[in-house]
Amino acid sequence: MGHSVLVLEEHEAIGEPVDCSGVVGREAFTSLGLPATSIVDELRRVELIAPSGATIEYHPAQPLAYLVDRTAFDRSLATLARDAGATIRTSSRVVDLQTERSGVTLDVRGDGQQLHVSAKAAVIAGGPRYRFQESLGMGRPSRYLRTVQTELPMSYDGETKVFFGRAIAPGSFGWFLPICRQGAQHVKVGVTATAESQTAFLQFVAHLQQHGLLNGHRVASKSWMIPIRPLARTFAERVLAVGDAAGQAKPTTGGGLYYGLLCAQIAAETLSHGLHAGALSAASLAAYELRWNDVLGKELRTALWFRRVVQRLSDRDLNVLFDVILHENLLAWVDHRVNFDWHHQAILGIASRPRFALALMQGLLRSWLPA
Ligand SMILES: Cc1cc2nc3c(=O)[nH]c(=O)nc-3n(C[C@H](O)[C@H](O)[C@H](O)COP(=O)(O)OP(=O)(O)OC[C@H]3O[C@@H](n4cnc5c(N)ncnc54)[C@H](O)[C@@H]3O)c2cc1C
Repeated sequence: MGHSVLVLEEHEAIGEPVDCSGVVGREAFTSLGLPATSIVDELRRVELIAPSGATIEYHPAQPLAYLVDRTAFDRSLATLARDAGATIRTSSRVVDLQTERSGVTLDVRGDGQQLHVSAKAAVIAGGPRYRFQESLGMGRPSRYLRTVQTELPMSYDGETKVFFGRAIAPGSFGWFLPICRQGAQHVKVGVTATAESQTAFLQFVAHLQQHGLLNGHRVASKSWMIPIRPLARTFAERVLAVGDAAGQAKPTTGGGLYYGLLCAQIAAETLSHGLHAGALSAASLAAYELRWNDVLGKELRTALWFRRVVQRLSDRDLNVLFDVILHENLLAWVDHRVNFDWHHQAILGIASRPRFALALMQGLLRSWLPA
């Protein structure tokens, strides 16, 4: 857009370390014109597993999503940015961000150097960290998922498996995701949970071992947070927040890549307009939040509502829901309404089916009654 842009990344290499499963819907590539070079596999077959062990198989006609090599994905974005004229400085950690009447100033450290940068505006895109946003009055997300994931070199020929149940992933789900990268087979194993994700992860691994899916593999793991509710304000004087830094991930799955990129595009357009018009006040940049809310607001609200309801359910109630889905053949009904990135329509559709709604309400009632 003709502006001078500096990207500051604290790590030495773009895209490392990887804290992601790399599942990205097809729409991200078609609607944003992303290079497909980072796609290594497709998500074609999924098996959903109830706490009881009952399974629902989902084999959509089209691949549900792509599996990307997240390092290659980030590097392809960096190449696009450089080709468009941006300067990228790695090993450069922003340690302070101040806004003034005439611009923003950043203190940057790395590689034994210290740098002072002045700019007309700044975009905070530092993932799930909220120090700068809090100091600028933008708040921090009020809801998170805790996530633990590891990747193991092993081959598995079957489908991706998604496990539900309080012992495995309290209030959320665990995944077993086979992926083939440069001819080598791997499996990503992880959980998202509303609490105690490390304990849940160890129980999940033990569960997989018991069922012969992991055989004696040593499992090292790291844990992260995914915000599932946006900041109170994603804009301030001369500043915008984007991606996890703004809390723009899907409350259902915790996927944040596509929504973050959609918001990044809106942020770039809003800032470009503000830079040309000399209008970078908080009031002018509020247009960013209005626009991204227009695109994502309904999705995020519906998905958060659904997550909050489902995460209250006991294993017994989840088993009942699975039963309803199986016996009402709801997956076939939902098939042409399901979109990997947009869940509002499918959630409202499924939640308004009488047997599903009844099972959901009974589960909710039980969760409110004393044990
Ligand atoms: C285990 C796990 C699995 C996931 N799987 C998926 C998935 O399959 N699909 C999906 O869509 N999403 C997934 N997500 C979510 C997804 O990874 C995030 O939503 C996405 O990475 C957010 O992108 P971002 O650019 O906002 O932040 P990040 O990817 O976190 O990037 C922020 C960058 O800024 C750098 N940084 C931070 N602070 C500073 C600073 N002060 N100075 C300089 N640099 C700084 C960080 O080091 C980092 O490199 C997953 C998350 C986790 C934890």
